[in-house]
Amino acid sequence: MNYQKRFVVEPGAKVRLGKIDPAFKGKHESKDKAAPEIQKHVERMAKAQYMLYADGNRSLLVVLQALDAGGKDGVVRHVFTAMNPQGTSVSSFKQPSAMEAAHDFLWRAHLPTPVKGEVVIFNRSHYEDVLVVRVHQLVPKAVWSKRYDLINDFEKILTDNGTRVLKFYLHISPAEQLARFAQRLDDPLRQWKISEADYSERKLWPDYIEAYEDAMERTSTKHAPWYVIPSDHKWFRNLAISEILADALEDMELKLPPTRVDIAEIRRKYHTAAARQGRQGHTPPKEK
Ligand code: AMP
Ligand code: MG
Repeated sequence: MNYQKRFVVEPGAKVRLGKIDPAFKGKHESKDKAAPEIQKHVERMAKAQYMLYADGNRSLLVVLQALDAGGKDGVVRHVFTAMNPQGTSVSSFKQPSAMEAAHDFLWRAHLPTPVKGEVVIFNRSHYEDVLVVRVHQLVPKAVWSKRYDLINDFEKILTDNGTRVLKFYLHISPAEQLARFAQRLDDPLRQWKISEADYSERKLWPDYIEAYEDAMERTSTKHAPWYVIPSDHKWFRNLAISEILADALEDMELKLPPTRVDIAEIRRKYHTAAARQGRQGHTPPKEK
């Protein structure tokens, strides 16, 4: 499938999340049937990440945004599994610390951006400053409304410097969210994740949707596109995101650096029988 094309928010296009089915699963019938395809994409991603690291001139920033229980952690765990930890990191954006809050809102986002050759995943991101901040009126409208342009400028700086920026909104339904909260209640290993606020925030669902729609309309650009990923089915979410990431990485036309030596010469010098013979004097004598 071409999910890159299907789920991208075209620059300047209106976003109507109500019109996008969160339970969409395309032609795929089930988790089991999709598993080999996900595996294929994940392997392509791993190979492409190796190329990114070797190429050493480009980098990738993946932004994950969703309402609570939307599946951001699941994407980090299931989609990025095959990537080499050397060259990949995750940055989580919580409520700003006193130090972060004392700076401009992009300060804390700039520092963890990927260096050349690296992949960085933002689990939440600078977008919280036009989402939760807007919904809860943590700053006046005059302040948050200017942030869309600032975000576009920020992402332009990154892309001009060789970073590919891909942004995913994991689209779930309110019913699916409640079902996932219920699963947490039943699972002693995940009960610690539950807070009363998870439930009270549900009242603000329409406000969040509006804030997400505006954010994606105003900041989906050719150089840093948004993708709306139907995410009620976790396996479909993983399938779509892994495909989009693999395609995007392969599109970057990454190149291995040129070899620094004459391979034939090195073979002749160190790996022929004659060369091994010549080295014998240096190997320790066999034990009697
Ligand atoms: P979690 O992702 O469940 O660990 O929660 C992190 C919390 O931090 C979420 O409730 C976010 O909405 C909140 N958060 C992240 N960034 C900001 C921000 N810039 N201002 C206020 N709250 C934020
Ligand atoms: Mg939470």
